[in-house]
Formats: sequence, structure tokens, C-alpha cells
Amino acid sequence: MILNGGLRVNWTLPNGTAFVGNDAAKAQLAARVESGSLPHALLLEGPVGSGRRTMARLIAAAAVCRSAGEKPCGHCAACHKALNVIHPDITELGGAEEARSFHIDAVRALREEAYVLPNEAPVRVFILCDVQSMTDQAQNALLKLLEEPPSHVRLILTCENRSQLLETVRSRLFAVSLSGIPANEAAAVLKRHLPDRSDEELLRAATLWSGVVGQALRSLQDGSYREILDLLPPLAQGIVAPSELELLKATAPLEKAKEAVPAVLNGLQLILRDALFCRYSCSPLISTSPESAQLLAKALTRQQLLALLDTVGDLYAARLRNINHTLFLTLLCSRLRSAAGK
Ligand SMILES: [Zn+2]
Repeated sequence: MILNGGLRVNWTLPNGTAFVGNDAAKAQLAARVESGSLPHALLLEGPVGSGRRTMARLIAAAAVCRSAGEKPCGHCAACHKALNVIHPDITELGGAEEARSFHIDAVRALREEAYVLPNEAPVRVFILCDVQSMTDQAQNALLKLLEEPPSHVRLILTCENRSQLLETVRSRLFAVSLSGIPANEAAAVLKRHLPDRSDEELLRAATLWSGVVGQALRSLQDGSYREILDLLPPLAQGIVAPSELELLKATAPLEKAKEAVPAVLNGLQLILRDALFCRYSCSPLISTSPESAQLLAKALTRQQLLALLDTVGDLYAARLRNINHTLFLTLLCSRLRSAAGK
């Protein structure tokens, strides 16, 4: 184990559909699984909604599956339990995105449990979700397990970005990156879940969420997609308004919607690209608010638009560091205004 050589990985979800996209990650994992060299500690990094937990569950199911062929077969008793999240040898922990919410006590309990032999499978699999929310103390406690894991233990960790973890922890993990998939493929997946929505709306949502299907689906279902679209024009206006107050007001709805930030930044990036195109009138508009793009194209120079695009990229990266959300929004306002020469 984890799997003996010669076995193949089956990326089909319990509902019968395939895990779409992220072919590089799948190939990387399949090669390890098929050669019987899946590491003791695996890190699946990627944006929320990119399928990290689903992939972790599929790998865990493969690890306990009793089939002699493709794993997880989806039919044996072990697969049935694993895919219904009731297998006694698969434990899931964490899953809260709030900073420092994954405490040392949970890791200590995990360490004790890890030394207990499996109940029925050849291995015990621990899925630790959103490990960026671990305190430093918790990460250090985990380190001891990573350094000398019992031979029957497999750890699958998930986080947004490996840079969020302590270097000592990171260096002991085999990291695989997941990302959004091409917008048209993401829109096709969304269509299966929301057949009544228009193709145009699904493609726009997929584009706004950079092809991260889980987030796009959630925002379409709970209505936050529409709220994000409504937030973009005042945000664009706030960047060039005479007073900073307008931008502060525009970003106020984000105070209680931290999870919307990636889509807002991406939506702003699309508007800025369109604004650049507007200045040369050389390309069709791709953003959700062509009027905002035209406003920025008139109000700002090419250099300022390019500086804003860079700033949005920097803000995207800053978001991944466990920065306080209120502080992040203040930073967002001041950096955007400054890049626009305000
Ligand atoms: Zn099976």
C-alpha cells in the first residue's frame, strides 16, 4: 500500500460523474499511486472550492478499497463506507477557514489516534482540512507525526497555498496544486447542477470565479454572485472618485463577505483589462461591467491601469498570508487609490 504497483486510479465521484480538470495534479497523484509510492504526507493546495476535499476523499477511498482493479472501485464495502464518509479508518479534521481555529489539542488527539492500528483497512487515513488555520503550536505538534509517521498512517492535508504553512512542516509534505479549470469546462459542470440557468450566466460566473467550480456554484445558489456583480461598478468608481470615502463605502459589503474577495479581485482585474483594451478599442469587452471599463479608460492613463493590474495581483497574494480581514480591506483601498494616482 498505499496501493500496490500496477493499480490504476479512478477519478469518478460517488454520483457517477468524473472529477473534471486538474489533469496535471491527477497525473502526478496517479503516477505515485500506480507505482505504490504515494507519500505518507500529502498536501493538496488550491483555492476554496477547487475540489481539494473531494480529491482527498477519493485518494482516501483508493487507500482502503478492496478491489483488485481500479481504485476506488466505488462498489466494494470499503468504498461504500469511504465515499459516504463513515469508514472507521478514515478520519476528517479541521475544515474551518478562520485563522488559528485549528488548535494543538486536536493535533495531540490525532497523534494518539495515529498510533492505533487500522480497524479493517491496511492503512489509517487522516484528512486534515484547511491546515492554514492551524496555530503555530498545532503545526509544531503535527511536525512530530510528520517526522516519524507510523507505517500504517497516511496524512492528506489541504490548504489554499503552501506558503501559509511553517517551512518545517511544508518541507515534509508532497504538495500537489489544484486550480480553477477553463471557464467553458467549469460552465459545463455548473450546467449539470443548475440546468435552468442560462449558458451566458454560468459562463460569466465561471469566469468571475476563475473556473473554481465549488465557489461559482455556491455563489450562484446563495445569490452572492449577483451581489458581487453589483459591487464591481461602485468599486471601479471609488478608485477614481475625488474622495477616498467612496471606495471605502464600496468595499463596506465585503466586511462580512470575506469569501467573495477572490471573485471581486478577479472581476476588477477583468474590468481593468477591458479598460486597457478600450483605450485602443482593439478587443471585445470580456468583463461583467463594460461601463466601468469605459469610465476607468477615460479617467486613467495606460500606466495607471497597468499599475492597478499589478496592485490587484499583489492584493491577491496578500490575501493568502493570514492577514486580518479588516486590515486587508484598508490595504485594498489605499493601494488601489495610490496606483490610480489618487
Ligand atoms: Zn472499492
